[in-house]
Amino acid sequence: MTKSTVYRPLCIEDAVQLARNIEGVFSPTASLRCEEIGDGNLNLVFRVYEISKDTTDSALSPRRIIIKQALPYAKVVGESWPLTLDRARIESQALIAQGQLVPHLVPKVYLYNPDLALTVMEDLSDYTIMRAGLMQRNLYPLFAEHIAEFLAKTLFFSSDLGLNQQDKKRNVERFINPELCKITEDLIFDDPYTASPNNNCDAAIEDELKKLSQDCGLQFEVMLLREKFLTQAQALLHGDLHTGSIFITPESTKVIDPEFAYYGPMGFDIGAIIANLILNTISQEHWSADEETRRQYRAYLLQMVRDIWNQFESRFRSLWDNHVVDRMAQTDGYQDTYLTRVLQDSVGYAGCKMIRRIVGLAHVADIDSISDLHVRERAQRTALFIGKSLVNMNRRIQSIDEVITACEHGI
Ligand code: ADP
Ligand code: MG
Ligand code: MG
Ligand code: MG
Repeated sequence: MTKSTVYRPLCIEDAVQLARNIEGVFSPTASLRCEEIGDGNLNLVFRVYEISKDTTDSALSPRRIIIKQALPYAKVVGESWPLTLDRARIESQALIAQGQLVPHLVPKVYLYNPDLALTVMEDLSDYTIMRAGLMQRNLYPLFAEHIAEFLAKTLFFSSDLGLNQQDKKRNVERFINPELCKITEDLIFDDPYTASPNNNCDAAIEDELKKLSQDCGLQFEVMLLREKFLTQAQALLHGDLHTGSIFITPESTKVIDPEFAYYGPMGFDIGAIIANLILNTISQEHWSADEETRRQYRAYLLQMVRDIWNQFESRFRSLWDNHVVDRMAQTDGYQDTYLTRVLQDSVGYAGCKMIRRIVGLAHVADIDSISDLHVRERAQRTALFIGKSLVNMNRRIQSIDEVITACEHGI
C-alpha cells in the first residue's frame, strides 16, 4: 500500500478488504473469512483465510495471513494508558532484521503499513504457543538448538562485535523505543520492590511483597540490573522473549512479537527464556499427573536451560572467532570475560523476571491457572525463592550449572 491512510483500528471487514488488496496472496474471487484472535495485552491480531470446498479448517487453509495492528493504547488497561503506534514500526523492522539473520526462526513479513500501524505476516496457526505446549508437557527436542541459534546470531550480528561501530550506532537510533522500555523499567525493575498500585499479588503471599520492599541487598542487585537495562546498548534485543512469544512444533520454532525491541544488554533476552522455563518447571507441581512424570519433565526442562546456555555460548564463540569485526576484540581473555558477563546478566534478569511474574502486573498462565490454591501458593513462593536467589548470586555466577543447582535446591 503506498496511498497514505488515516489511522483507525480495523474491524473484521476492513481486515478482509486489506487482505484482498495485497497482491499475490488471495485470488480475486476467493471466499475469505476473518477472526480477531489476539490474546495479547496490547494489539489486535486478525487472521484472514481462504475457504474452499476441501478446506473448512482455518488452520489448514493453504492461503492465510495474519494482520497485527497496534492500538494507540494498551488493550489490557484501556484508553487511559496511551501507547505509541511507533511500536508497529519497531516490530516490523525487528522481524525483518531477524529474518535476514535467521529466516527459518521468524514469521515472514509480507507488508508493513505505517499509517495503519500494522504488519502483515505469515500465519503460524499450525504451531503451538510454547507456554501452552509446556503446560501439556510436550517435548521439543530441537528447541534449545533453535533458540540458541536465534540468540547467538541476532545478538552477535547487531552488536559491536558483528557490526561496525557506526552502522551499529545508526541501528541504536532506529530502535529507540522509549515508551515500551518504560513499561519494562516500571513493571520489572520498579513495581515489585515498591508499593506500586500496578502490582497484582495474591492475598496469600502478601507477606512476600512486603519482604521484597524491605530487602535492601536484593534491591541493590536489581538496581544494578536496571542501570544496565537503561544504559547498555550492547545488542538489538527482542525485548519480550517469554514462552508466549514463541510458536513451536517438535520440528520448528518461530519467534514472534518483538515490539519491545531496543538496544540493551544481551542477558535480558537470554534471561527471559530461562525465567519462563524455570517458571514452568515450578508449575509442574500441578500440571504433572504423578511424581515420576513430574520429576522427569522437570529434569527435562532444566536440561533444556543448560543446553540453551551451552549451545548459545559455543555458537557465539564460533561467530566471534570467524566473524568479529572489531580487531580489539581479539585481546587475550576478552571473549571469556564477555561471555561470563553475559551469563551473569542472563541469570540476574531471569531472577527479576521470575519475581515480577509472581507479584507484578502481568503473570504467567503456567502458575496463575493452577486451581488448587495451596499448590499455587507453594509454586509462587518457590518462584520467588529461586528468583531472589538468582538475582542475589548473579554477579558471582561462573557456570550455568550453578543455576540448575539453585533451581533443584529451591524446588
Ligand atoms: P501482543 O503483542 O498483543 O502480545 P502477539 O504478537 O503476541 O501480540 O500475538 C497475540 C496472539 O495472536 C498470539 O498469542 C497468537 O495466538 C496470535 N498470533 C500472533 N501472531 C501470529 C501469527 N503470525 N500466526 C498465528 N497466530 C498469531
Ligand atoms: Mg505477545
Ligand atoms: Mg501477548
Ligand atoms: Mg507484544
